[in-house]
Amino acid sequence: MEKNQNYDVVIIGGSYAGLSAALALGRAIRNVLVIDSGNPCNRQTPHSHNFLTQDGNTPAGIAALGKFEVMQYPTVEFLTDLVTGVKGENNNFQVITNSGKAIKARKLLFSTGVKDLLPEIPGFADCWGISVIHCPYCHGYEFKDQATGILANGDTAYEMASMINNWTKKLTVFTNGKAELTEVQLQQLSTLKIDVIEKPLQDIEHKGGAMERVLFTDGSSHMLNALYARPPFVQHCPVPKEIGCEINKMGYIQVDDLQKTTVAGVFAAGDNTSKFRAVSAAVAAGGKAGAFINHELIAHG
Ligand SMILES: Cc1cc2nc3c(=O)[nH]c(=O)nc-3n(C[C@H](O)[C@H](O)[C@H](O)COP(=O)(O)OP(=O)(O)OC[C@H]3O[C@@H](n4cnc5c(N)ncnc54)[C@H](O)[C@@H]3O)c2cc1C
Repeated sequence: MEKNQNYDVVIIGGSYAGLSAALALGRAIRNVLVIDSGNPCNRQTPHSHNFLTQDGNTPAGIAALGKFEVMQYPTVEFLTDLVTGVKGENNNFQVITNSGKAIKARKLLFSTGVKDLLPEIPGFADCWGISVIHCPYCHGYEFKDQATGILANGDTAYEMASMINNWTKKLTVFTNGKAELTEVQLQQLSTLKIDVIEKPLQDIEHKGGAMERVLFTDGSSHMLNALYARPPFVQHCPVPKEIGCEINKMGYIQVDDLQKTTVAGVFAAGDNTSKFRAVSAAVAAGGKAGAFINHELIAHG
């Protein structure tokens, strides 16, 4: 439970990026409160891959280990709550939470991630992170040589198909409507023996998230073990935008090389700032943010 003192730093979002920043700041003997609402983006995926020393661990397992390590530092506290607003300014912020708390902080870090906007295709949300996957480095190996689809169109479909072709040759592109690929792209996909199916998707049949086939609106179907998709996203937390942090045209919080946002005293790190979406990248960005927040605290006394 937080002591409601004037924290050096309040970290909003206590998943991989936030915990990593808390580790750096705890080791720098800073008073830190991590506030987390317990809703990381990868919560449905059974195993997280491609993070050295934790390959194949569960997302919750990695976070729990991180939290255990961070909580060894006595100046770090953790609060399960949702941040709903921020008032004040650099060196004198007030963080408002859903449970009615108002917590003072000199610096803020938003490590709040993004929220995926999943299409309303029945079965899609159930399979998300299990057999509907977003990243071959995270989950491609587990589906190597298996019947795999790519739900995308245009340049994105072409780029994804060209890349994922190395993980499996049993590849089909589903444009879910008229294909918007160039003649050259279609020809190159055809050379790679990658079919392009334009029929609109109606349903994904699965058992407990493990995909069996996709059904089309015309009643036909296609057997599949995995489907790649890159759904659009929004910032998980609206507060950075509300307090004036610039959101760039790709939808990320704009940060500089030191993870500073465009608002003085406010930093951001992790998925909310970068399209390189991986646990390792979030941990690296959080560690960097922690160090540069500490640097700013030193610089301003
Ligand atoms: C389905 C799926 C599978 C993935 N699989 C892999 C994989 O195998 N390997 C890999 O390296 N990467 C994987 N990723 C990517 C990886 O999960 C992300 O890059 C990573 O979780 C980003 O960490 P983060 O700390 O920035 O954000 P998140 O982990 O999303 O955490 C953000 C945290 O902030 C909290 N929060 C948000 N708003 C507030 C608020 N207002 N107040 C308090 N708390 C708040 C949330 O509850 C959440 O706990 C996967 C992603 C998805 C979507």
